[in-house]
Amino acid sequence: MKTHQFEVLVVGAGGAGLMAGLYASRTAKTAIITKLYPTRSHTGTAQGGIGAALGSQEEDRPEWHTYDTIKGSDYLGDQDAIEFMCNEAVQAVYELEHMGLPFDRTPDGKISQRPFGGHTNNITGKPVRRACHAADRTGHMILQTLYQQCMKNNVTFFDEFQAIDLLMVDGAAAGVVAVELATGEMHVFHAKSVIFATGGHGRIWEITSNAYAFTGDGPSMIMRRGLPLEDLEFFQFHPTGIYKLGILITEGVRGEGGVLINGKGERFMEKYAPKVKDLASRDVVSRAIYMEIRNGNGANGQNYVYLDVRPESVNKYAAADGRLNLDGTPLNVTGEEILAKLPDIVDFCRVYLGVDPITQLMPIQPTAHYAMGGIPTNMYGEAISDENNTLVPGLYAAGECGCVSVHGANRLGTNSLLDLVVFGKHAGLKAAEYARGASFKTLPDDPTEFARAQLERIRQADGTENVFDIATKMKKIMFDDMGIFRSGKGMQNALEVIRDLKRRYQHVTVTDTGKIFNMEMMNVWELGNLLDLAELTTVAAIARTESRGGHSREDYPERDDKQWLKHSLAWAREDGRIELKYKPVVITRFEPKLRTY
Ligand SMILES: Cc1cc2nc3c(=O)[nH]c(=O)nc-3n(C[C@H](O)[C@H](O)[C@H](O)COP(=O)(O)OP(=O)(O)OC[C@H]3O[C@@H](n4cnc5c(N)ncnc54)[C@H](O)[C@@H]3O)c2cc1C
Repeated sequence: MKTHQFEVLVVGAGGAGLMAGLYASRTAKTAIITKLYPTRSHTGTAQGGIGAALGSQEEDRPEWHTYDTIKGSDYLGDQDAIEFMCNEAVQAVYELEHMGLPFDRTPDGKISQRPFGGHTNNITGKPVRRACHAADRTGHMILQTLYQQCMKNNVTFFDEFQAIDLLMVDGAAAGVVAVELATGEMHVFHAKSVIFATGGHGRIWEITSNAYAFTGDGPSMIMRRGLPLEDLEFFQFHPTGIYKLGILITEGVRGEGGVLINGKGERFMEKYAPKVKDLASRDVVSRAIYMEIRNGNGANGQNYVYLDVRPESVNKYAAADGRLNLDGTPLNVTGEEILAKLPDIVDFCRVYLGVDPITQLMPIQPTAHYAMGGIPTNMYGEAISDENNTLVPGLYAAGECGCVSVHGANRLGTNSLLDLVVFGKHAGLKAAEYARGASFKTLPDDPTEFARAQLERIRQADGTENVFDIATKMKKIMFDDMGIFRSGKGMQNALEVIRDLKRRYQHVTVTDTGKIFNMEMMNVWELGNLLDLAELTTVAAIARTESRGGHSREDYPERDDKQWLKHSLAWAREDGRIELKYKPVVITRFEPKLRTY
């Protein structure tokens, strides 16, 4: 066992972790540990853009961004935090620009912006250009830029170290235990402040846009230390994943004028969202696609529809919608322009589908995409431990693993990259500030005990259960019964299956007994996280007897503000019970209204 000491320790090197590490390292000795090499983090796959009301090409205001985000969240987002994020957004994007991020430009040299779902001009109600982008590789550029900045600022990196336990002393964070994947050795990272930035957990679902590494490690570690998780019942299904594969086709395609077409060749979003049509928020569009499929309008009688970004279609629908260029001329997009704006998307379709989006329709279906819920924090990234917002000293979370909550029941596109840089920064600042006034806590004699016990149990499990089989069954039942539409009966069924899988999981066999890069062991440990989070998600969803944002129940189709305008907090108790409590949503300026698009 090796021990390291840092004032601030960040777990995760995606956009949130790097931003937190960068800011903390300005005043505190900081390390980042990451199970993946930093630039392989999922942030690198983010395509469409980062939202900020720069108003580069047309009028836009942070307060419109605030209102759209609150509305998009189906009024479950905390309005103080949302306003804070949207006000900080403009500065955050300019800061990235000054760090060297190569944003696309307008002809007069400003940062180019494209429309995205749910982002509107609040006066006209029409889509507004708010997403700042670097082609369809915005996340990749953010990750590279921040990684360079961290190197410059002497952040210490421990690449391919997987955290498996959070150390707590007297209710405060005191460090992390991690496995060095190359050797199998345990390391203790003793720290004054710990920031979790471990990303999402979309690998619970069968069809997902998420990377294999999205296994909810951070929230699971927190949960095992007796802390709650917030709003797990809210998970976003993105409308446009590549059929069967789930690989994401960015909303930027619709931002550039692409439209959804059903099996009969009809453009259907005008039925569901007459004003913004294909650019309604994601929960609305995903449900519309499902309704089309259910009504027999899927393509070729199957469960998919089409996304059409062929230049002649884009121009035709733009003319029908009265959508013009900024100088008032009619749209006349060419194939070359589409290729220049969406190079990766065109490539994905050519490679994975053998379909050329410039001349053909793309088959798509909704794909599990984003965890709105996670580790509860306030708007400075400080973790909280209960419904009274009590702080956990020394513990922070930022990025997709956290829940501020700015996304509420449904996140708007481009607001996650924004969340990473804004709340990553503030978590880093707060963690460093706390570290300045705190001393290192004395660790228990055997700090790796709990971590070792978890791995030992896996290594010594007797039985014939197969990790792949359990994972496949979990993903399938979650997609079928905990997907875009839910019902009490279906969810109860899912819960029983998940609980049975958890029992079987105790008897998984591990064939690799070696130490060096024993990924089989780590995969089994990760599956344990996914099963725990699947159970918590299902229990929280069964309890919420309403429909809101991403949580859509056929047996309770209405939103119920009287009873349910509140965040859930879920604790996994030691005796196996799951306890739910609730805390109010922060409402400042915008009284909840029913959403129309
Ligand atoms: C395909 C795709 C496209 C997207 N496009 C957009 C977009 O255009 N705009 C937008 O706003 N959002 C987009 N999103 C959402 C957004 O990209 C993610 O929510 C965000 O990047 C998550 O960042 P993060 O820093 O929280 O996590 P990540 O970038 O995933 O980083 C997680 C880090 O945690 C580390 N880690 C995890 N577990 C452990 C552990 N146990 N021990 C040590 N390290 C660990 C990993 O190694 C990694 O470095 C997209 C998401 C996907 C999947």
